[in-house]
Amino acid sequence: MTGSPQPRDNILAIAAYVGGDHTLPGVNRVLKLSSNEGAFGPPPSASAAYAKIAAELHRYPDGGSGALRTAIGSRFGLDPARIVCGTGSDELIGILAHIYGGPGTDVLMSMHGFTMYQIAGTYAGSRVIKVPERDLCTDVDAMLEAVTPETAIVFVAHPNNPTGSLLPQSEMLRLRAGLPSNVLLVIDSAYAEYVEAADYDAGVALVDAGDNCIMLRTFSKVFGLGGMRVGWGYAPAGVIDAINRVRGVFNVNLAAQAAAIAALEEPGWVEKCRTHNTEWRARLAAAITKAGAKVYPTEGNFLLVDFGTAAKAAAADAHLRKHGIIVRGMAAYDLPHCLRMTVGTAEECGMVADAVAGFMAQNTHD
Ligand SMILES: *Cc1c(COP(=O)(O)O)cnc(C)c1O
Repeated sequence: MTGSPQPRDNILAIAAYVGGDHTLPGVNRVLKLSSNEGAFGPPPSASAAYAKIAAELHRYPDGGSGALRTAIGSRFGLDPARIVCGTGSDELIGILAHIYGGPGTDVLMSMHGFTMYQIAGTYAGSRVIKVPERDLCTDVDAMLEAVTPETAIVFVAHPNNPTGSLLPQSEMLRLRAGLPSNVLLVIDSAYAEYVEAADYDAGVALVDAGDNCIMLRTFSKVFGLGGMRVGWGYAPAGVIDAINRVRGVFNVNLAAQAAAIAALEEPGWVEKCRTHNTEWRARLAAAITKAGAKVYPTEGNFLLVDFGTAAKAAAADAHLRKHGIIVRGMAAYDLPHCLRMTVGTAEECGMVADAVAGFMAQNTHD
């Protein structure tokens, strides 16, 4: 054989994940509302813990994230032995795809589900099937109909990013009950803390109902630690055991563990963030609706805004960038006529509302 090393075919079929932009050329103050990072930055207690650990950086972290799992367990009322931490929940998504998927298996996700599921499933060698949605929400009937003997994993973001949609708990129960016991249901509740729906369960009850379901959570959104890369899963013992055999031995680094533990201890943090988000999510949605763009219902800390056509969404994106505002284009999600906007501070929401209104006023006739 000659030539350079070649990746497997399915590697080159993957479209690399594109994160939200950080900077705009020529703009000093940039509003980064493209990655759903919390509106208030990191909890002060987490920043303090991060600074304090600086003198300890020569130490390996606890590979099992023991203190962090204990802190998560007491915060959420869960058995720490059934929690596993990851380098962001992204790491756990990838590990699950490799453990349970692979050549000859199918991975199911909804049409506009989180793209990491597609990347992870394809990398593992599975066929990734995007199941049609109903009104930009997971369609449980279609999902169950798509299950075959080849199905290994069903990924559901709850609520979903980027649509913001949330299945009612009765529908989640119906999905869970309809899946064969050998299919792993992954409930990705990255935005759990922002949900206001009264019947919402982030996944604990569904995990406890059997041996084939895992709930994923993250410190990247409401806890304001996206840069630290900490996520976790709650699952039956068999799933936890499998993950622990293959995850990075020291996956969550020393500073990340310290910052995450401290974030859980910040008094009133989640309540403050949720209250702010609920108020400004509604205010921003009302302002954008009034300006003439369509806003989909959302349970997250972001809005999916529909400008009607891909060209108009691109023009709106350009207009916002001119005003120093970075939001997220949705072409990768097959929603090129939409933009996704994080709910920021009150001031930021006001600036976004003004910029969208300015754009819509200039563009009412096309
Ligand atoms: C942001 C997000 C995550 C979190 O990813 P991390 O790797 O923990 O930062 C997971 N799932 C969804 C749907 C998300 O939007």
